[in-house]
Amino acid sequence: MTKTILLVIGLAFELPDIAARVATLGLSFSLLLYASLYCGLAACLWGAAFIRRPILRWGWALLFALAAILIGSFQGAIGDAMSYDAFVTMIYSAGFADDAAAQYSAAIAWSSAAAFFLLLGVGLKPRGRAPIPGIVAMLAPVLGLAMLTLLLFVRGGEGGRGLPNAWVGMAYSALAAFEAATQPSAARQSVTIAHGPSKQQGDIVLIIDESIAGRYLDINDPAGVRSGLLSPPTGVTVSNFGLAASITHCSFGSNLTLRHGGTRDAYHRINATMPSIFAYAKQAGFATTYIDAQRTGGAYQNGMDDSERRQIDHFVQFGDTAVVDRDMAAADALIAALGNERRDFVLINKMGAHFPVADKYPDSARIFAPTLPRNEAAAVTETQLPENLYSGAESWRLYRNSYRNTVAWTVGDFFDRLFARARLDGALIIYTSDHGQNLHERGDAGTTTHCSPSPASEEGSVPLAIIDTSGRWDDAARRSFDASSHYRIFPTLLNAMGYDPAAVRRQYGEALDSPLADPATFNSLFNARLGRKPIWIEVKRSKVSRPPASDYAPRKYGIAPR
Ligand SMILES: [Zn+2]
Repeated sequence: MTKTILLVIGLAFELPDIAARVATLGLSFSLLLYASLYCGLAACLWGAAFIRRPILRWGWALLFALAAILIGSFQGAIGDAMSYDAFVTMIYSAGFADDAAAQYSAAIAWSSAAAFFLLLGVGLKPRGRAPIPGIVAMLAPVLGLAMLTLLLFVRGGEGGRGLPNAWVGMAYSALAAFEAATQPSAARQSVTIAHGPSKQQGDIVLIIDESIAGRYLDINDPAGVRSGLLSPPTGVTVSNFGLAASITHCSFGSNLTLRHGGTRDAYHRINATMPSIFAYAKQAGFATTYIDAQRTGGAYQNGMDDSERRQIDHFVQFGDTAVVDRDMAAADALIAALGNERRDFVLINKMGAHFPVADKYPDSARIFAPTLPRNEAAAVTETQLPENLYSGAESWRLYRNSYRNTVAWTVGDFFDRLFARARLDGALIIYTSDHGQNLHERGDAGTTTHCSPSPASEEGSVPLAIIDTSGRWDDAARRSFDASSHYRIFPTLLNAMGYDPAAVRRQYGEALDSPLADPATFNSLFNARLGRKPIWIEVKRSKVSRPPASDYAPRKYGIAPR
């Protein structure tokens, strides 16, 4: 009886999730199905609590508890059900676990409390006469797991919403393990595309900013903040492609694909089996440099591994530099690479403006106010979302002002610094962001800025510009203004390196100078798997919110965007 009560308490922590699911189903046949499934799973959980062998019983108890913490913390933090897609993304982005733990302590504590009751409820030694036969108890958890995993498999990972977190976490894990085991592990190929006689091309640079909303830059909207790109110094051209579509609306997929050239039709295969951009650069005679302003201590991110690392000659991180100064350090490292006598290929993961943004700019760069309170998360690189965003429109207004200050600093001052000191002649620099941002300008509720389950245009709307000294990209930029995408960057880089353009096009699609129209869409289901298809969302200026000028009340605070 004690065990049953403990289990009921453990499950009761999830009542709000259950209520949310019931509300979406309404009085329908689906509600009946959901209710039966829930009861079935609860019964299997209860059955597992009466397994006779202590080691087996405690083993299941531990698994249930861990799964409940994993799913519960995530859902508590983002305020929405965790999809299988999000689960897979989280597994791949495990490098952020430390930061997440620091930021989501409340959500983690809550789900840990629930898990504690489940742990004891299942694990404790049953007293008195067993209510069910031993064999039934043994089979109960296996049956529950098989039932839910099969259901999720058939539904392409959908359907876990509102079911016990302990089961959902286990079933997601089982699915992920199944996928990992059944995926053909094709070896990564080496470079096979022919490389022509080297042109006059100097250094080639891809700057991947972090969480920069295209429309918050002055090159894309008069209400945007200073980007440093609006009036470049004499001799330097900034060819602006306007608002472009990202690969997807999460860091992992965008970065992985930017480095491997996955196309809309074949990104799974290409990302898994084709050479990285570093391999192509090396083969073409460039020294390769990777500047990562986000991670430290040699940690990889966004799907990089040892074999990709071996193609990188200079692996640069800034563990000794404060978070707020990392992009300036990145600018200095880039200036050094541009200034040496070598032909370099440089890829930069900027620090940019991922949340938390309250402390990602120095006091001297506080232009827009009022802002979020400062000095609470200065050491945190990024997390899935700031804890202080639950209170709606006013919080988001403060957030947008902090965001503006951060962008003006990490983008504006970055390019100021670059233009003041870098040797740019002959270089080709492509600038973009990994994904856009939903900054809740319409006053909508919600706690996420990107990676949301059903994103609007904003989350995939990124800046895209080419910086060089020839001006030869201006026509292409005008032609494809507000109508291009990340998908065209990889072929552009390969062409610049001297690879056969026809072969590049066959394998990787059109480059940024193509006369053909790009769909200008991003993928909102990057981890499309188990038979599901990507979901494409169009990035259209008319659908992307303008930065609201009313956020910072210029008269009262005596400021205006510069
Ligand atoms: Zn990102």
